[in-house]
Amino acid sequence: MKKIIVAIDGYSSCGKSTIAKQLAQYAGYTYVDTGAMYRAIALYALETLPLYSPTPLLPLESLDFLEENIHLTYSPDLCLNGQPVESKIRSLEVGNMASKVSPIPAVRQFLVAQQQAMGQAKGIVMDGRDIGTVVFPEAELKLFLTARPEVRAQRRFDELVAKGEHPIFEEVLKDVNDRDYRDTHRDISPLRQAPDAIVIDNSDLTREQQMQTIYDIFDRHH
Ligand code: C5P
Repeated sequence: MKKIIVAIDGYSSCGKSTIAKQLAQYAGYTYVDTGAMYRAIALYALETLPLYSPTPLLPLESLDFLEENIHLTYSPDLCLNGQPVESKIRSLEVGNMASKVSPIPAVRQFLVAQQQAMGQAKGIVMDGRDIGTVVFPEAELKLFLTARPEVRAQRRFDELVAKGEHPIFEEVLKDVNDRDYRDTHRDISPLRQAPDAIVIDNSDLTREQQMQTIYDIFDRHH
């Protein structure tokens, strides 16, 4: 059967990663979480760049600096310079920093090139913000996920509680709204729906309903 590229974009805390992972499993495709790549650079910024104070993010504006200092690999989990980072990149702090490093043109150029290389063989489900618009504008199937901000904040709140953190709901909601604003208003590759994307608002869908809808769409597209 013909292999395709599935591009999944949408707002933060829409359950994009879970959906993309499950669809990849269903299809027997490779799954790539591009948010994790921006988060890994954010982690690098938080851990290493204070050295460059008072302009800690300046080095990230140089593609040469990125190519020399940041090596992302999968074995199979994401590693930054040889160290697994999955457990460190999911905090609010890293998420916030990710939306600050992601507008930097060199950072996007650096990561988009790696993402495009991963899709060359097709058979890939990739999720992010600009997959259907910039990384793979020719993707055979594009999904755009959304849910009401309160619903997304509640999901994030529950996740943080499950991790043993003590979040305050209003702060989590503010964070969701701030992140949406930054992701949709940045000059470079803002989050927006590709004209040919299929929109799925999962605010009122159970996980099963949502996955069935997505499997049906996938089955019709390849
Ligand atoms: O999806 P996730 O919340 O892990 O993404 C973290 C941040 O990385 C987002 O808020 C966004 O700023 C950035 N991002 C991006 N482009 C992508 C994926 C993520 O700018 N393709």
